[in-house]
Amino acid sequence: MIISEKIVKCLENIKKVVKKLILLVKISKNTPKSLIENKTIEDYSSTSSLKSISDDFLFIPSSLQGFTNTNTKCERINETRNLYKFNGILTINDSDYICNKCGHKMHINNSHPITLKHLCFGGNLTCVCFNHTQFYCENCHSTNMQNISFKADNHRITNELYNYVRDLLATGHYTNKEVAEITGLNRNVVKDIDRERLEEKYVVNGELIKPEKQATYLGIDEFKLHNGYKYATHIIDLETGHILWIQESKKKQVVYDFINHVGSEWMNKVKAVACDMNSDFEEAFREKCPNITIVFDYFHIVKNYNEKVISAIRKDEQARLKKEGKTEEANSLKRSKYILTASLSTLIKKDKEAEDGKVIDKGSNLFKKTPVKRTGGKVDKYNKILEENELLFLAELIKEKLHNAYTLNNER
Ligand SMILES: [Zn+2]
Repeated sequence: MIISEKIVKCLENIKKVVKKLILLVKISKNTPKSLIENKTIEDYSSTSSLKSISDDFLFIPSSLQGFTNTNTKCERINETRNLYKFNGILTINDSDYICNKCGHKMHINNSHPITLKHLCFGGNLTCVCFNHTQFYCENCHSTNMQNISFKADNHRITNELYNYVRDLLATGHYTNKEVAEITGLNRNVVKDIDRERLEEKYVVNGELIKPEKQATYLGIDEFKLHNGYKYATHIIDLETGHILWIQESKKKQVVYDFINHVGSEWMNKVKAVACDMNSDFEEAFREKCPNITIVFDYFHIVKNYNEKVISAIRKDEQARLKKEGKTEEANSLKRSKYILTASLSTLIKKDKEAEDGKVIDKGSNLFKKTPVKRTGGKVDKYNKILEENELLFLAELIKEKLHNAYTLNNER
């Protein structure tokens, strides 16, 4: 064989090997166009020499062991995204024939197409599609599926995509929803992966590990669960913002369980805990850890004051004025709850927005709703109510003092 023939033969072999080992991804400018025309990568590789392929394509090593990409199709899935379908074959290994129950040799029973979501390239999504083989054991009558080394356990995605999702979640920069949008996965899949990640990190032998850091200031608060009838409580480290404990319930038991979990030595180093003034938590902490200072946070103090003092006065005053026959004055207190409970700075901001013509509801052609603009005059109404009503004026002064108290930082 003359040398030039040898080189050609050699190049042919390299071409075959390379085709088996790698996924071809064309990223030149005309890719989407040519692929949308349903031209496959097989078409490219069969019609051009290796040299021209390497000019047109970027070779990306694939870690999809045993998978050979035979052709790639491109589908437009929405205005901005394409889905590249890597169709191919998954090689059957000798070990796939061995029954994992009795060790006998099995035979192929049937196969069905399977699609695994794979990494995204820029804004485009990819998936690998191949036939998944099922084996049957004559000896023990069990069926076994062919092993897919690159498939993530419990998910129809590749290990690469699984790890990418975990890496994105671990950065702490993205919400689950954002990760789902980036990777093209369903939100529930991302949620499941996040749960697995957190469990691996924080659960040892089925038990939640103790907080990694000693907290000095804790915050405890309850929140409604989806159905609105049940509550859950979370305890956070106020300095790091890390959630240390979540439990369904808003009873004292949450505090007992948390203290039990972290231990008294850990609790002894906590200086203060911020909580709602109407909760059982305060009592539970005083009972178990008398050394800890209980602090009512600003948000809850103001919220309670608004709900229990200002709103009550407003209702009482409205009833009194009505009884005394002062209908006009009583009416001016109608629909004033927001004005009386919002802070003056918020009212000023809203009036400014009204002046600028801010639209608060875009309206809808479909439902024949016209756009709604912010209405002004909130500060004027606020001043008018206070001028006419001594008791509410007094209540406002106290609210201001309450606010100021939270901005002071020395005891005197
Ligand atoms: Zn068997």
